[in-house]
Amino acid sequence: MSQVKSSSLGYPRIGENREWKKALEAFWSGKLEEAAFLKQLETIRLNHLQLQKQAGIDLIPVNDFSYYDHILDTAAMFGVVPERFGYTGGPVSVTTYYAMARGNKTASASEMTKWFNTNYHYIVPELKGITPALTENRPLIAYREAKEKLGIEGKPVIVGPYTFLKLSKGYAASELATVAAQYVPLYAQVLRELEQEGVQWVQMDEPALVTDVSDADLALVQSIYAQLHEAAPKLKLLLQTYFESVQHYAAIAALPVQGLGLDFTAGAEKNLQQLESIGFPQDKVLGAGVIDGRNIWRADLQERKALLARIAKVVPNDRLIVSSSCSLLHVPVSAALETALPAELAGALAYANEKLEEIAVLATALNEGEAAVKEAFDRNAAALAALAASPSRGRASVHAAVASIDAQPSERKAVFAERQVSQKERWQLPFLPTTTIGSFPQTAEVRQARQQWRRGDLGEEQYRVFIKEQIQHWIKLQEEIGLDVLVHGEFERTDMVEFFGEKLEGFAFTKNGWVQSYGSRCVKPPVIYGDVQFSKPMTVEETVYAQSLTSKPVKGMLTGPITILNWSFVRSDLTREQVAYQIALALAEEVKALEEAGIEMIQVDEPALREGLPLKREDWEQYLNWAVLSFRLSTSDVKDTTQIHTHMCYCEFHDIIDSIRALDADVISIETSRSHGELIHSFEEHTYELGIGLGVYDIHSPRVPEVEEMTSMIKRALNVLEPELFWINPDCGLKTRGVDETVASLRNMIQATEQVREQL
Ligand code: GLN
Ligand code: ZN
Repeated sequence: MSQVKSSSLGYPRIGENREWKKALEAFWSGKLEEAAFLKQLETIRLNHLQLQKQAGIDLIPVNDFSYYDHILDTAAMFGVVPERFGYTGGPVSVTTYYAMARGNKTASASEMTKWFNTNYHYIVPELKGITPALTENRPLIAYREAKEKLGIEGKPVIVGPYTFLKLSKGYAASELATVAAQYVPLYAQVLRELEQEGVQWVQMDEPALVTDVSDADLALVQSIYAQLHEAAPKLKLLLQTYFESVQHYAAIAALPVQGLGLDFTAGAEKNLQQLESIGFPQDKVLGAGVIDGRNIWRADLQERKALLARIAKVVPNDRLIVSSSCSLLHVPVSAALETALPAELAGALAYANEKLEEIAVLATALNEGEAAVKEAFDRNAAALAALAASPSRGRASVHAAVASIDAQPSERKAVFAERQVSQKERWQLPFLPTTTIGSFPQTAEVRQARQQWRRGDLGEEQYRVFIKEQIQHWIKLQEEIGLDVLVHGEFERTDMVEFFGEKLEGFAFTKNGWVQSYGSRCVKPPVIYGDVQFSKPMTVEETVYAQSLTSKPVKGMLTGPITILNWSFVRSDLTREQVAYQIALALAEEVKALEEAGIEMIQVDEPALREGLPLKREDWEQYLNWAVLSFRLSTSDVKDTTQIHTHMCYCEFHDIIDSIRALDADVISIETSRSHGELIHSFEEHTYELGIGLGVYDIHSPRVPEVEEMTSMIKRALNVLEPELFWINPDCGLKTRGVDETVASLRNMIQATEQVREQL
């Protein structure tokens, strides 16, 4: 009898000790020759294949490995290299490949953007002016390598044509079908060659099918897959979706492919419901993504097995593949290295390697019965029980507060128009008040002092003195520059989430929980595993100290609940909404503590609010409702005269403007300058009647902006926004900038403000 197969949809590139990252960086800095570099990457790549084989995975992905990013690989395969890189055809060299990713002396890098709702960033292909050609069949090369070097019958992974084109730029939406006509024949050729080679399964990734797919797009997808089927009819193509339930299930399930992969973690309910009510074609294989490729937790194997049993009622075992929900790219590599965490937490972690084990165990359970995996199931149940019983999850007052969330203050006592009057009186700010977003340059000196302190080479007291000196220096400087509202500078913070996570209850910090964010850059998000609770003031000391040095107002500076949530790994026994409320209530106590200490201007940053938006439009409202409520829970219980600020670093604003307004922040500062005033334009159509500062210069570049650039920016904004409510500030925090350029830019910003003030 044919059996259930196990499959992995992709494996992290970075390596157990981030050896991939280190190799890339050594190569870029010239410390590693190209040949040696390529050899190192080959070793890492083969090692990862071997490891998946040993874990008992039947369908092992190849071609998911990358030198930087899999979308960039796909672009390179089709010769999609913008003209500025001087490419003349043929396989794209390593030098050109990295020039596209990182820029070189003469050409700027391609744009980078977020991969769906993950924190992974891909390089956006630029199709404009390109005549695509197949430069080399990368999936075939990867397949041959695995077979020849390791005897592994790999499953090539390819970014599907619909997703590839949807993520590319350089054509109008109405030209999609025309552009597809250029690329589909190349895909067809890739598949034909794979078929000739005798490849068994190909995984065609089409995550774009879980977003809002228009009818016209659906028709295009149907035509694309009809053409691909015709090109390689004997090749088994598994159309893989993930990150949400598939849109147009019936039509997608009917495409001429041999298998369909569905996510049974994100969007599970809808996928399951569609599967059960509409059914599944009898000639197809179902890839059941039951192991979550986005979280770091052990799955509940009993529960997952029950789910598979339900699925098996529609699709019998011999047409079932058990897999991760998406590529394991989004989780760290091995939890075995986490030896310094509370035992109940360490025991409940599943990174990529542990997830592979879970997939294999589930497949065995289905094939041989549970007795065959009893030991693994028992261990799993014990680990989950231990985590559930963790004292950090038993904070009764937190649970009670969240259970009665409607009773918590989430509305300011007065409406904005009234607060505006009291605040005007209280603060006596000049027309067009000037301020910054919070951080000042984290110089080598600042970073070094922090490292020494962390290592224990610098005493607690000395470190505090050092931070205070920095604050003092920058308070003086801000006064001298002529800013109206000052900040303490955030010198004590490495990272805006980690800083609060270390001080709040309920967080843990892993040793090896690294995931790729973009290129060689990896991040190690905090883990929210317990109930989040405030224990002691986190920012009061530095802020009060800063305020003691000046008669100008100093803004307190906090990271908002949604940003803390979205930039952490979150426990899976509660909804994200519930965890957001826990964080929000803890931050409300910090806001109170600041207010009591006399800090009555408080900024609560929410740069990650937008990135938490669900992939499907119909789910936006629900998310925005609880996100806005969380912000308000943190910021509402203050005096009318207390001025709440918020900050966001993006300019796509118009489609969520109602929610932004609903935050009811007295002042918001947002990015504008990189979008060349697009945002200003959007205010011609949407009114905004609370305080607002549109960043008047781009902090992402070391360039010092001219006074005139900023005056014209300010004047344009004043045409569409109420001058009485307008603030002047840079785009974002200044921590990545140098000292001299920061001071020069701020001086120019003040001069520009003064010129406009005189003219009005
Ligand atoms: N207050 C933070 C800073 O200035 C805001 C950072 C951000 O928006 N990402 O650094
Ligand atoms: Zn910002």
